[in-house]
Amino acid sequence: MGDHKIEDGLLFIGGRWRESAGGGRADVVDPSTGRVAATVADADASDVDAAVGAAREAFDRGPWAATSGRERARVLRRVADLVREHADELTRLESLDVGKPVTLCRAVDVETTAEQYEYYAGLAQTLDGATRGTPLNALAYTRREPLGVVAAITPFNFPLILSGSKLAPALAAGNTVVHKPSEDTPLSALFMARLFQEAGVPDGVVNVVTGMGAKAGKALLEHPGIDKIAFTGSTAVGRHAASVAGAALKPVTMELGGNAAHLVFEDADLDKAIGAIIKAFVFNTGQFCMAGPRLLVARPLYETILGILAQAVPGVPVGDPRDPGTVVGPMAADRHVKKVEEYVEQARREGGRIVCGGERLDLNGGYYYRPTVIADLAAGSRVVQEEIFGPVLTVQPFDSEDEAVEMANATPYGLAAGIQTADVARAHRVAARLQAGIVWVNDWAMLDPAVPFGGVKDSGYGREYGPEALASYTRTKSVVVSLD
Ligand code: NAD
Repeated sequence: MGDHKIEDGLLFIGGRWRESAGGGRADVVDPSTGRVAATVADADASDVDAAVGAAREAFDRGPWAATSGRERARVLRRVADLVREHADELTRLESLDVGKPVTLCRAVDVETTAEQYEYYAGLAQTLDGATRGTPLNALAYTRREPLGVVAAITPFNFPLILSGSKLAPALAAGNTVVHKPSEDTPLSALFMARLFQEAGVPDGVVNVVTGMGAKAGKALLEHPGIDKIAFTGSTAVGRHAASVAGAALKPVTMELGGNAAHLVFEDADLDKAIGAIIKAFVFNTGQFCMAGPRLLVARPLYETILGILAQAVPGVPVGDPRDPGTVVGPMAADRHVKKVEEYVEQARREGGRIVCGGERLDLNGGYYYRPTVIADLAAGSRVVQEEIFGPVLTVQPFDSEDEAVEMANATPYGLAAGIQTADVARAHRVAARLQAGIVWVNDWAMLDPAVPFGGVKDSGYGREYGPEALASYTRTKSVVVSLD
């Protein structure tokens, strides 16, 4: 392990730790107190150029792309083991950065990250081509080859998981990577860089540049030495990233915003459904692309469910993320709380009924907002239509299955959706009609590295997880050998 603290926030380029060439530094704030917890390098275009150069060199001349899938699998399994061995430290950093409750952070963020590397270690050994029968007098076969240097740009809300969902398949396929984590939450990416080195990932194969989106992110996106862009973030930035990639004819994966509908039919098991409804909008303080902030309820259940939520939601423990009993921590930045406040004020102006919450929670100077349920808004309200990205649930009634599906599909987004029903035929029928990359039935946020996820419409395109993601970090080459 290096002899500096992660909180010193150096750049990791070509296997070495260094300051930004321009000397830039940026603060990292602990959202549970509003105080500065660390400073990190604020990379500029020359740092990005150095990182891409190191990744290029490692790809073109290093051993990584040329090693067997089995050897890469060994290294990736070691990464998974190291993540588990350092679970305490990773939990501490991720919680400090994002405000995640430690209990959930360890069980979900850290453990999922280990599982991602384990899963893609397995798939690294399956990367082979095929022979193709052809009337040509030839032996025709295909090879699956890595793409080259991958730019991995990730958002603030799941720093570990969303870097792993890119780096694990990219590395399994033999690519090299430049990772730019969110400027708000860069610490766990720097810790992972140490673990990659300790696991035996060769120098230059993984590089981490911390810095602002408009500077380091932009420089990475536009760098001619990048062969693939794997972006997770807002739809606005994703649209720009996709246009840059389009002009340069580079493959992309675009994991963008969401605003999922959660449909509760009259025949649902209400006890189970309520747990899923609450989890779907409070998990990660609602800062979850796959959150379920739009609850659509069969009209006969409307007031019943609002009554249950009014009782149950205020009982969800909100507080210091370091307290093992906390379920909802602070939001990751003050600007996110301000955005939530604006949406809730807008809901009030439109005559929305605040069933519970609707205000900040004043605690230790942190960025807390009480989980909030809002009823009676019109379907076209901005508060219903837009991605709030906070602990806010809007609830609306529907009168038929057709109307439920129509309301669910009536936003520009299409990332996730959920159905609560005891009717198996209805579950499959509605799942097929929902415009979403993933549909959960009778629970929420069941995610696993084996199960692909990604968006439709303004939620993006391409898939992470599963063999689909591994394939997206490779290209197929055909070799045709004359037998004459
Ligand atoms: P964001 O778009 O502001 O930032 C994402 C990343 O892009 C950051 O690293 C940022 O520095 C970088 N960036 C910003 N401007 C850039 C530019 N001009 N060029 C290159 N890079 C730039 O998103 P955020 O606020 O960090 O994250 C929240 C958003 O991410 C939400 O919309 C959420 O739904 C989405 N998200 C989607 C998924 C998914 O899997 N679909 C997962 C998590 C989050």
